[in-house]
Amino acid sequence: MRPSFLPRLINDPFDDPGLFIPFQFQNRALIFDLGDIDCLAPKDILKISHAFVSHTHMDHFIGFDRLLRLSLGRPKNLSLYGPPGFLKNVEGKLAGYSWNLVDKYNYPLNLRLTEMHPYYTLCRQYRCRDKFQPLQDPVEQPFAGILYEEPAFRVSAVILDHKIPCLGFSIKERFHVNIIKDGLTTLALTPGPWLTEFKQALYGQSDPASKFEVRSDRQKPARHFSLGELAEKIARITPGQKISYITDVVYSAANSEKIVELAMGSDHLFIEAVFLDQDRELAIKKHHLTAHQAGHLAGAARVKQMTVFHFSPRYLGMAQRLQEEAGAAYEHCRRLK
Ligand SMILES: [Zn+2]
Ligand SMILES: [Zn+2]
Repeated sequence: MRPSFLPRLINDPFDDPGLFIPFQFQNRALIFDLGDIDCLAPKDILKISHAFVSHTHMDHFIGFDRLLRLSLGRPKNLSLYGPPGFLKNVEGKLAGYSWNLVDKYNYPLNLRLTEMHPYYTLCRQYRCRDKFQPLQDPVEQPFAGILYEEPAFRVSAVILDHKIPCLGFSIKERFHVNIIKDGLTTLALTPGPWLTEFKQALYGQSDPASKFEVRSDRQKPARHFSLGELAEKIARITPGQKISYITDVVYSAANSEKIVELAMGSDHLFIEAVFLDQDRELAIKKHHLTAHQAGHLAGAARVKQMTVFHFSPRYLGMAQRLQEEAGAAYEHCRRLK
């Protein structure tokens, strides 16, 4: 299966945390956390449509300025999600700059902020052209675990304890559409952007009898199929991809329960491992996980793959020890299940 999401840590595990999630078949990406993102190429930053911020400690949020700066004057909308207090945090950043020239830009740049609370969200919109003055009072909506959703995937979130609220995230594809090459060959179809439209039509639950037009070759006339007939010949549906991201959490029963539930069965879990287990006391004091605890949580959630990050600089040159400690706890826990 060619995965739809291609997640990668933005930085070295000793540098600012953050997960960049480009979409394989679209010029688009999501991002979990906005720490230092200077390592990302501007063309990659410009793919970001939705940014999910776990909490606003500087190492998770300083990249907001770069994302905004690159987005100014472009035909783009940005949606950002964060923990309680997030609207104030972003408004504070926006208030730190002068915006007297932005009404000349060709594109308005819409900014949509969502602040998550245990049972509701607050949403507020802003426009660069209006000097980022809020367009309305915050709009309250009930929240039951899903922070953002579109036909192909959803992003779930939980509030975890890091002495302050810190969000854990999980992106789950509704189902995965595998394109069968032989099917394309049999129908003499060439892969192209129409395949993305075809997948969107499947996610949109269009009537199988509905017509679907394929224009796979500019030189040749378009061909018409029923969506169901085409799906039968060129697509195989498998379970959707799931990626989870956990950072900046204290090891507690309440956090563990929420993390395991959120990350359960993930194809890939990215989880912080700030300290070695020999420094467990320090981890408690700083409200972070040890590598052993991270591995244990990954094993309990039966994830298929685990990557650890957010290593304390005290272990510079010892990354392997943190990885091995997490790996051993993961394997041990997997064997017990
Ligand atoms: Zn941090
Ligand atoms: Zn933090």
